[in-house]
Amino acid sequence: MVNFQLDEMQEMLKELAHEFSMEEVRPNAEHWDNEALYPKEAIMKAHEMGLLNLHIPEAYGGPGLGCMEEVIVNEELAWGDPGFATAAYATALACAPIITGGTENQKQKWLGMVAKEGALASYAVTEPGAGSDVAACKTTAIRDGDQYIINGEKMWITGAGHSDFFFVLAKTDPDAGYRGMSGFIVEKGAEGFSLGKKETNMGQRCSDTRSIVFDNVRVPADQLIGETESGGWMNAMKAFDLSRPNIAAHATGLSRASYEHALQYSNERMTFGKPLHKHQAIQFMLADMKTKIEASRMLTWMSASQSDSGIKNTESAAHAKRFAADTAMEVSTDAVQIFGGYGYSEEYPVSRLMRGAKVMQIYEGSSQVQRMIIGREITKDF
Ligand SMILES: Cc1cc2nc3c(=O)[nH]c(=O)nc-3n(C[C@H](O)[C@H](O)[C@H](O)COP(=O)(O)OP(=O)(O)OC[C@H]3O[C@@H](n4cnc5c(N)ncnc54)[C@H](O)[C@@H]3O)c2cc1C
Repeated sequence: MVNFQLDEMQEMLKELAHEFSMEEVRPNAEHWDNEALYPKEAIMKAHEMGLLNLHIPEAYGGPGLGCMEEVIVNEELAWGDPGFATAAYATALACAPIITGGTENQKQKWLGMVAKEGALASYAVTEPGAGSDVAACKTTAIRDGDQYIINGEKMWITGAGHSDFFFVLAKTDPDAGYRGMSGFIVEKGAEGFSLGKKETNMGQRCSDTRSIVFDNVRVPADQLIGETESGGWMNAMKAFDLSRPNIAAHATGLSRASYEHALQYSNERMTFGKPLHKHQAIQFMLADMKTKIEASRMLTWMSASQSDSGIKNTESAAHAKRFAADTAMEVSTDAVQIFGGYGYSEEYPVSRLMRGAKVMQIYEGSSQVQRMIIGREITKDF
């Protein structure tokens, strides 16, 4: 039998995350977004409450929970504010390749820093000339004795201005395409490492997106993730199987928040002598929004559950991420429509949610890239 009920512990986590979002995130979301303020204090508070980095195993100081617990919490955090959820999740994404490919010592050190000391981290893969086409990346890491020398530039790195360390994908064999890529950990204070300017984004403006530059940055050879070179690309992709259900959960939380605002408003706003939701055209919009939110959550839970059961979830993670992100864009746009002119004003939260939804179709593999992954998975046996 398939059971769609959460267990007692999952319900408690959901409630805790929801209360946190109600008390700490929603009241500040507009201010953070308007001022593009990184919500560090709230992130640290969420960490102390045990709401972040749930996938770090107990052996390294983490709670050792599953992807299912993470998606439950992440839906609630994004319901509070998608920008906060993105900023708070960046560290978990950077930890994923260490969990999937790091050595025992690396896990003890870097995952331990995150779980026990609240260190923050960023995932640095994209470059000015390489986004969807990760293999086109130009950053190099060349071995020199017991060190690697890293040169290049990464772009659009979430949380970069506040991170203590970075997962960095670089070419150790520049002529070998994606097979020549390796993952590294680079600390923020490394000589030759610098931060670029903070981007002025359309939405999720509190999440601090920047470029980072490596100018002959030397890192110890034991900061190469794993025992050997060239596993970086595969490992970075495996990390997406862990992270994409969580981005899908963020998108579901954003959609749910948009829908709830629209439903409430449709009861308050009168047109032609009755509340908006008494007009069938509006009721049908609300019905479609709700169906897509339920479907987003089911795809997300299925992918998270496969991940926890050790079933390869590349395809289901792509379905969840693509559908939930596209739904977030649609539902938040419809919420603005239901608010009419007021929706277009920054006075109501739906405009912030709509601006915040767009990037969900772009980062962590765009909606087109997810279709490419699904297409590859469903045709690979022919
Ligand atoms: C706010 C924000 C935060 C981000 N955070 C991070 C981060 O923390 N770490 C990180 O490494 N990166 C991050 N990114 C980068 C993000 O992952 C990339 O922007 C994304 O992968 C797309 O790459 P691109 O921007 O280079 O677009 P491109 O790859 O140039 O693509 C442009 C458009 O063409 C489409 N496209 C490309 N190739 C194909 C194809 N073969 N078929 C059909 N359509 C195609 C894409 O879907 C997209 O719509 C972030 C981006 C943003 C905007």
